[in-house]
Amino acid sequence: QEVEERKRTEHELRAAQEELVQAGKLAALGEMATAIAHELNQPIAAAKTYIASCQLMLKRNKLDDLAPTLDKVSDLGDRMAKVTGSLKSFARRSSDKNLEFDLRQAIKEAVSLMKHQFHVEDCDLKLSMPGQPILIMGDRMRLEQVLINLFRNALDALHETDGPQINVKLSMDNDQAMIKVWDNGPGVPEEIGNKIFEPFVTTKKEGIGVGLGLSISYKIVKDMGGHFRVTNRTPSGAEFSVQIPLSNKQQEG
Ligand code: ADP
Repeated sequence: QEVEERKRTEHELRAAQEELVQAGKLAALGEMATAIAHELNQPIAAAKTYIASCQLMLKRNKLDDLAPTLDKVSDLGDRMAKVTGSLKSFARRSSDKNLEFDLRQAIKEAVSLMKHQFHVEDCDLKLSMPGQPILIMGDRMRLEQVLINLFRNALDALHETDGPQINVKLSMDNDQAMIKVWDNGPGVPEEIGNKIFEPFVTTKKEGIGVGLGLSISYKIVKDMGGHFRVTNRTPSGAEFSVQIPLSNKQQEG
C-alpha cells in the first residue's frame, strides 16, 4: 500500500512539474512578444513619418527628394530585420556571434541610427571617444541595441528639459572598457530606485513604455561579462555606465 501511495505521489509531482515548465514557457513567450513590439515601435514610427513625407513629395512633384527618403525607409526595414534577428539570437541564448569588435564603431552606428530622432527632438549629442580602437568580444548588434535603448530613454526623459543634452563617453580603465551615457533630464524617478533593471518596471504612459528595454540590456551586458550601473547626477540627470572587459588581444597590446 505504501509503495502504491509513493508511486501516486511521484506521478502527481511529475505532472505538477510539467505544468510548471509549461507555464514558464508561456510566460517567456509573452515576455518575448512584448519585447519584440517594444523594439520595433521606434523604427515603425520613423518609417511612417518618412512614408508621409514621400506622399507629400509626390503630391508636390518633388521627385528628386524621393529616392533618398525611400532609402531611409529601406534602412529602417534592415534595422527591424536586425532587431528580430537579434531577438532570435537572444532567445537562443548562446550567441554564435562572439567576435572581436571596436566599441567606437558600435557607438558610431547606434548614434547614426538615432540621428534623426536627436534632430527631431532638438537634442544636442556630445560624443567623446579615444583615438585608438577599444576592442571587446561579443555580439556588436546586441550592444548597439543597448545603446539605442539608452538614447531612447534619455530622449523620453528630456521632453520637459530646456536645452536637452545627451553625453556619451567611451574610455579605457586597465582591462575594462567603460561607456557612460548621461543626460541633463530629471534623473531616474525615486520610486523606481534599484528596480530599474527588472522587467516591466516603467513610469511611461501605456503604449509608450513596457519596461523591458533596460532588463534586456542588462542581460546583454551580463552575457558579455560586463556590469551595468545607474546613478543620478547633480544637479540633475541620469547616468548609465556599461563596463565590459577588453578582448585578450587589446589587454596584451
Ligand atoms: P521603458 O522605456 O519601457 O519604460 P526601460 O526598462 O527602458 O523601459 O526603462 C524603465 C524606466 O527607467 C523608465 O520608464 C524610466 O522611468 C526610467 N528611466 C530610464 N532611463 C531614464 C533616464 N535617462 N532618465 C530618467 N529615467 C529613466
